[in-house]
Amino acid sequence: MSSCHSLVTAGVIYREQREKTRIHRARTTPKITIIGAGPSGTPLARLLSLSSIPYTLFESDTSPNYRSQGGTLDLHTSTGLLALQRAQLFDEFLKYARYDGDHLQITDHNLKVFLKNVGAENHDGPGVKQARPEIDRAKLRQFQTESVPAQNIVWGARVKSLEKEAREGGTWRIIFYDGNRKSEGGFTLAIGANGAFSKVRSTVLSVRQPDFAGIGVYDMIIPEPEKKAPEVYKAVNRGNIFAHKEGIRLALQQLGDGSIGIYRQGFNTKDLEEVKKRLLAPGGLLDGWAGVLREAIERWEHVSGVTLVGDATHLMTLYAGEGVNVAFEDSMRLAQGIVDAVRGNGGGRVLVDVLDNAVREYEGEMWVRAEKAARLTDELTKLWMFTPGTPGSVIAKTTALHVNFHTPPIMQPFATVGVHAWVAWKKWTGW
Ligand SMILES: Cc1cc2nc3c(=O)[nH]c(=O)nc-3n(C[C@H](O)[C@H](O)[C@H](O)COP(=O)(O)OP(=O)(O)OC[C@H]3O[C@@H](n4cnc5c(N)ncnc54)[C@H](O)[C@@H]3O)c2cc1C
Repeated sequence: MSSCHSLVTAGVIYREQREKTRIHRARTTPKITIIGAGPSGTPLARLLSLSSIPYTLFESDTSPNYRSQGGTLDLHTSTGLLALQRAQLFDEFLKYARYDGDHLQITDHNLKVFLKNVGAENHDGPGVKQARPEIDRAKLRQFQTESVPAQNIVWGARVKSLEKEAREGGTWRIIFYDGNRKSEGGFTLAIGANGAFSKVRSTVLSVRQPDFAGIGVYDMIIPEPEKKAPEVYKAVNRGNIFAHKEGIRLALQQLGDGSIGIYRQGFNTKDLEEVKKRLLAPGGLLDGWAGVLREAIERWEHVSGVTLVGDATHLMTLYAGEGVNVAFEDSMRLAQGIVDAVRGNGGGRVLVDVLDNAVREYEGEMWVRAEKAARLTDELTKLWMFTPGTPGSVIAKTTALHVNFHTPPIMQPFATVGVHAWVAWKKWTGW
């Protein structure tokens, strides 16, 4: 009898112990996955690592330099650069940052200059005007992924879909394309950081694929331009040239390895009128604000345990140069929400609810930020690519849009007048 009693007692104690352990583990170790090791997924991973919050990052590429990462990105003070500082990666960033991207010329197809911004003189350090240092995408990815513990990243893991595990109390299971890779389940929170063609997006949104903005980008490289194309090298002056002809932009950009990247942006059809009709007509892709992104940034009904960051949630064309900066800020803010939730209240169900509230809060503020950047991007796309007489016809308007993006609404009319006056003066004095 007594041995039976002690067995029962032991059973109860064991169950209590197991429950305590479960609650404790739930409090300290929610099972988190990040899908995608791009500019939004890696800072998020790094920030969680710094707070000792475990996670698994699944990336479809088989290694960090598996494919060309493309040209350069300019990071902005209050978004991209701030996220790097929080991730304690700013010093690493400074090793590869270039300060000559400020040297920007906007020209027509005959290289007639319509706007010129002279960058740092010595090209070696932060110039007086430098607020947006550039970095090659490949370098950014390299040091970001190296900053994350190797055991947390699974390379070559291409996620196919996310499935709800009804029986497991609302956790999520990840299914991979590779049939030999076993699916993994039990995730309390799955974060889609997998870019424009995100496979997580359809879990929260009815939109599966983004709409095509009608503009194709072709990229080429001039290696050793100093020897092979000295005139081009001189003209680019270690910065950027954006040369325009109606509906086409040729962007020439200095890269960190000494080569020059050339990006031809334009419609992928010869019939410009047809493209305009399709994109600008009422109900077309660019009709109204944030048309390109209208569907992609549509607010979704919050889904417990799943969220999106970066291009997976708010895809933008490149004309405002804000996409990656918004992505960095997403990661910084979501990471902070997760860290506070995990360090803060309770365990078990409480933790799940607190974590969920943190995700909701992030989503609420993210939409406001992303919409603002989307509006800017949309306006600039229309001006640069769909306006007759570019670049001359849009220089003042595009500059005013950039300035107003960082100006409080009450000051914007003054800023607009100031920019128009400045551009008129510059034109008159011949830059
Ligand atoms: C030509 C061009 C120029 C640009 N220039 C600028 C600029 O100057 N400034 C700026 O701010 N923005 C710019 N952008 C936008 C910027 O590149 C994006 O906003 C940024 O890359 C978004 O980062 P992300 O991590 O959200 O997505 P991505 O960069 O797309 O990264 C997604 C990651 O997820 C991985 N992945 C994808 N699918 C899966 C899957 N199924 N399973 C697992 N992993 C997956 C990918 O391999 C990748 O590593 C430009 C974009 C383009 C196309």
